[in-house]
Amino acid sequence: MNAPDPQTILDWYDRHARRLPWRVPPARSKAGERPEPYHVWLSEVMLQQTTVAAVGPYFARFLARWPRIDDLARADLDDVLTEWAGLGYYARARNLHKCARVVVSDHGGVFPDTEDGLRALPGIGPYTAAAIAAIAFDRAATPVDGNIERVMARLFAITEPMPDAKPAMRTAAARMTPAERAGDYAQAVMDLGATVCTPRSPACAICPWCDACIARAQGIAEELPRRAPKRARPTRRAVAYWMVRGDGAVLLRRRPEEGLLGGMMEVPSTPWEERDDFHDAPPVEADWRDLPGLVEHGFTHLQLQLKVKAARIDGRKARFGVWVPVERFGDHALPTLTRKVVRHALAHVGKGA
Ligand code: SF4
Repeated sequence: MNAPDPQTILDWYDRHARRLPWRVPPARSKAGERPEPYHVWLSEVMLQQTTVAAVGPYFARFLARWPRIDDLARADLDDVLTEWAGLGYYARARNLHKCARVVVSDHGGVFPDTEDGLRALPGIGPYTAAAIAAIAFDRAATPVDGNIERVMARLFAITEPMPDAKPAMRTAAARMTPAERAGDYAQAVMDLGATVCTPRSPACAICPWCDACIARAQGIAEELPRRAPKRARPTRRAVAYWMVRGDGAVLLRRRPEEGLLGGMMEVPSTPWEERDDFHDAPPVEADWRDLPGLVEHGFTHLQLQLKVKAARIDGRKARFGVWVPVERFGDHALPTLTRKVVRHALAHVGKGA
């Protein structure tokens, strides 16, 4: 059995590279053209935890609105969060904005071209630093995400369960990284993981590394990488209060900067607690009524259930948050959870309470 050769996958990439808006096609990349670091960075931050298909329209909108990094650095944070809404993980959008400012203020608007330099920027972890260093600057860096871990696990038949298998995957990936065309190589392995070496039913028959792949030879490709048994996600519960003023405005408040949905607008609720019941603690006295059903929302590590109560409120009694007419909700960066609560409340009480 042959050892896998990086050149084999580069040849495959030359013929099959996905056309992506932030990417320079292989023919031009081989001629020395590099993609705009701003585009690579933006796409990589957006792609964390999200698919290429989902990111496309966001990427286009961001660039149309903020064509260069200085434009993004000058943008209002709320505008950035509003454009980001729907991509989730809002801390990333806040860091994106912070990073743009640091690149402009400390680096003259030019991204550092090394992994270490990139790592020092807000919101850029080891994977993103390696991806930008490789793709934008052709450094022999090794970005290792879930796709690349899967390819390495199969190529070298790494059978330890996750996460213990990670160091072996990382070492294998680093050893494979070529000194030449490292950026194209990184993107080639990303493409292979996304289109051929998929989690279920890998298309080994058309894989450029078919002859070298140990897991395929052993018939265990689909089983890898092995996962440790999953722990159930805990459920947290809370009560959200839909407060409507006489003129129809609804009370929203900003969540604390730290923690889940940090700094995002929400319908005020009790703290999200791991408990079996819904602890009711209305922020103001009123004639509260329970709305039927629950709002459910999944975060990576927990499941949230919200019961929603609604009441008409004397605006002078609520001394927190901001009163927002329902028609103006679009002006605020509402995360998906808040939008679910809004939809739930409007479906049951309309624009009244
Ligand atoms: Fe993945 Fe199959 Fe290719 Fe191995 S041969 S790398 S399992 S697609």
